[in-house]
Amino acid sequence: MVTKIDYDKYLASKTAALIRENFSERGITNILIVRWSNKKSKRILGHIKPVNDTEFGSIIEINPLLKDLSVPEYVLDYVLMHELTHYFQGFGSNHKRKHKHPHRGGIVEKELARHGWEEITQKSEKWIKENWKNLVAKKIN
Ligand SMILES: [Zn+2]
Repeated sequence: MVTKIDYDKYLASKTAALIRENFSERGITNILIVRWSNKKSKRILGHIKPVNDTEFGSIIEINPLLKDLSVPEYVLDYVLMHELTHYFQGFGSNHKRKHKHPHRGGIVEKELARHGWEEITQKSEKWIKENWKNLVAKKIN
């Protein structure tokens, strides 16, 4: 049986749940858009940027290859959590920025661990390492 999924609603509700469960003490302080990217990137799973380089809004875009049914749900959660961490650490958003660089010093991993995401991080990194190349090969070219 094939089920038709409204992928955009799926992404929006997933993101809302992740914010509720992990960042409820923080809050969304500008317009946050989460959507599937138009581009099937070979390397980038997700990214965040400010809307028109202003603090008015933020856009998180997720690689549409992650819609593939072979991708475990926890990998999509993990990618969303990574981008949401950037958001709350003030990268691509109007939140106060405490660090100069979005990745240096493992600040994303530390934040994920603080929320109890160590195991999912490890599992996801493992899955990506073992499967991403094959997925790209199957879906691109
Ligand atoms: Zn990042």
